[in-house]
Amino acid sequence: MIKRYEFLLADLDNTILDFTAAEHKAVERLLLHYGARADAETVNAYSAFNVSLWERLERKEITRKQLRDTRFCDFFRLYGIEGDGTEAAALYEQYLSENAFWIDGAQELIQRCKGKIKFYIISNGMARVQFPRLEASGLDKAADGHFISERVGYNKPDKRFFDYVFSSIPCFDPEKALVLGDSITADMSGGIACGIDTCLFDRRGKYHAGRIKPMYIIDELYKIYSILHI
Ligand SMILES: [Mg+2]
Repeated sequence: MIKRYEFLLADLDNTILDFTAAEHKAVERLLLHYGARADAETVNAYSAFNVSLWERLERKEITRKQLRDTRFCDFFRLYGIEGDGTEAAALYEQYLSENAFWIDGAQELIQRCKGKIKFYIISNGMARVQFPRLEASGLDKAADGHFISERVGYNKPDKRFFDYVFSSIPCFDPEKALVLGDSITADMSGGIACGIDTCLFDRRGKYHAGRIKPMYIIDELYKIYSILHI
């Protein structure tokens, strides 16, 4: 029997909106603000450093507050940049919230879901960053709803995050839902733990089969059309 999905729960960063592009732009502006070298090497070093912090947050080794308060202090120290890390964190979030770049095919995906599949955003980002980006991109109106972990009170992959989402969506049926995301640790593992079908968006072809096995893997967003039958 062909599976008919009715709910698409899509991650935001690097699934629907290009977080990497937004982050690079914001870090570049921040480095310039502090009179530091704003070259690709430094920007990429920050990205990698930040990813390691988010992974620690997913493993509950640090809190969201610790992540926010210390990321620039530590990064500035590592790279010998003069500046107040706490002030930099606030400035960075402001720059980041002003950017919204789409992933190729994301706008078309949302259009094609209209009237057929309910489309929801599920994101682990910070409220003060994600809400302005949802607004700047028009996603706040284009999606049927959005769930930002800071507001929910739990981060993906915590089951309580998904429980909150499921109970908030009208007539939700987990059997007819698909989680779409680029993160194995947050999106795929969270979806699988809740018994929901999962689709990994593996844009860079980085996935290696491991303990967590997504039901579907796509490297372009349009490839989900045949899964959703839209
Ligand atoms: Mg993501």
